[in-house]
Amino acid sequence: MVLIRWLGHAAFIIGVDEATILIDPWITNPLSPYRSVDSFAKDYKSVDYIIVTHDHGDHVGEAAELLSKFKSSRIVAVFELAEELAKKVGAIERSIPVNIGGRVRLEKNLEVVFTPAFHSSSKGAPTGVVIFSKNKSLYHAGDTGVFGDMKLIAELYRPYVALLPIGGHFTMGIEEAVKAVELIRPRMAIPMHYNTFNAVFTDPQLFAKLVKERVPEVEVRILNPGQYLEI
Ligand code: ZN
Repeated sequence: MVLIRWLGHAAFIIGVDEATILIDPWITNPLSPYRSVDSFAKDYKSVDYIIVTHDHGDHVGEAAELLSKFKSSRIVAVFELAEELAKKVGAIERSIPVNIGGRVRLEKNLEVVFTPAFHSSSKGAPTGVVIFSKNKSLYHAGDTGVFGDMKLIAELYRPYVALLPIGGHFTMGIEEAVKAVELIRPRMAIPMHYNTFNAVFTDPQLFAKLVKERVPEVEVRILNPGQYLEI
């Protein structure tokens, strides 16, 4: 069982048997149910892993503050970014630096592999990430345009769920995200990175409609911020 909770923008909490994982922890984004790390900490006593896909502010979010608050949390990110964030809070021993293309085991039944993302970043390469739990894998695309090697991600990792940006401007818009669904062919697609601020306003229902027309075997689930989904 995998528990997925969207906090708005690209922030997700993923619960698997052995760990709780927070991805792109801008937990105080305008759609999020949380306005501070303290309010978040009332619901979550610990987070085992904080994954950051790249160093833009709307993805790093409150990573440093969370690492300071949760003393057992570890930061998992591309080498340069993981080291920088861990050093910032004086916790280099809690850094798990990774890079694109190599599977990394975090727990007995929990592995991650970082994927390319076509985007920009100041510290290290921008990435997406595939998380493998006992029997389901989940692909968080990070911030990216659509690219042909999403097909390779599909062939290698067969993600059950794909979390895809649809907001346009800085990432794929709806047309491109539908193409991404065609390339990845997950069982389920969840749109993200939209309606957080003006540049990324869009209609997720249109994404769902186009996927239904063009790739009907893929189910689109539009989550409300704060909503849980069990798969
Ligand atoms: Zn970005």
